[in-house]
Amino acid sequence: MNCIFCDLLTTRESAADILFEDDDVLVLLHEAWATLGHTVVVAKRHVENSSELPAGEWARVARAFQRVEAAVLATTGADRAILMKLGLMVPHLHIHIYPVSRTMTREQVFAVIDGKTKHEATAEEKAVFVEALRKRILAELA
Ligand SMILES: [Zn+2]
Repeated sequence: MNCIFCDLLTTRESAADILFEDDDVLVLLHEAWATLGHTVVVAKRHVENSSELPAGEWARVARAFQRVEAAVLATTGADRAILMKLGLMVPHLHIHIYPVSRTMTREQVFAVIDGKTKHEATAEEKAVFVEALRKRILAELA
């Protein structure tokens, strides 16, 4: 199967940092850093749309998603989460979380979604952030 998420679930090799994993979801920090804390919640089962998951499984994915959103907002200090489910490039169910400031305009938000922005930070700063987010997600999902 030619699916980067299914391949990743087999190899665990990714350019992105794996933040969390359980039986139903894999949580990644998006490798492009369009904005601080751009996170992706991936359903483990290869389906394109949420309605294809068994109801109980979707409920567990949704709960994980909600707690990850809380962790992303808390760790970044952002007050708004922009959510996006596309599947154009990878038709395997995953939801993007873009933490943004409430003061950002629609144009600024769409620039982030389109990957026209880049969060600048040193490798060390990024590593510190990734660890803080990983700990917060674990705490939220405990
Ligand atoms: Zn897949």
